[in-house]
Amino acid sequence: MKKRVSSLGKCPACGDEIVARSGFYGCNGYKDGCSFTLSFNALASIGHPNITAAQMRALLKGAAKMEFKTANGVERIFSVELKEIDGKWRAWIDFDAGSELESLGECPLCGADVVESMLSFCCSKWREGCEFAIFKNSIKRFGGKMVTKQKAIELLKSGQTRVSIKGLNGSRRDVTLLLDEEFGCKVVF
Ligand SMILES: [Zn+2]
Ligand SMILES: [Zn+2]
Repeated sequence: MKKRVSSLGKCPACGDEIVARSGFYGCNGYKDGCSFTLSFNALASIGHPNITAAQMRALLKGAAKMEFKTANGVERIFSVELKEIDGKWRAWIDFDAGSELESLGECPLCGADVVESMLSFCCSKWREGCEFAIFKNSIKRFGGKMVTKQKAIELLKSGQTRVSIKGLNGSRRDVTLLLDEEFGCKVVF
């Protein structure tokens, strides 16, 4: 007996049903010449796990928000759409949306804009391999609070800022936070 494969949505090329096949999403209209396919791992090269059926449903409706992780663990969310480029359907990421993010300063490694992400203030050229990031929780282990946007701006501008941390005895004190190319920032005691 033939197993019925459930449709995830309409094919953007021909309007037929899109179904999950072995390792890729394909169009039922392939017999009529539709060439739409999208491999599960279409975004693997840029740090995204396999595209799930739920994400494919969202993509077929228009766009899906997807989370990406860079090599240094910075998480970014991008809007992904299906687009036909050079005759092939691809999961297209709106990188330009990233450039609309507010610039907080200049990346000390490459000079590009530093922008806010969920977990950090990171270089907007992270896709091109720049790994500069000031993690919001970088001073937590010293008893500090999350690094705020204002502090990140100060760090990028003048190379340092003052933050309050809580000592083991519970008393608070101010320490200097220095901009650091490798770690984003570091506390000076
Ligand atoms: Zn199709
Ligand atoms: Zn950079």
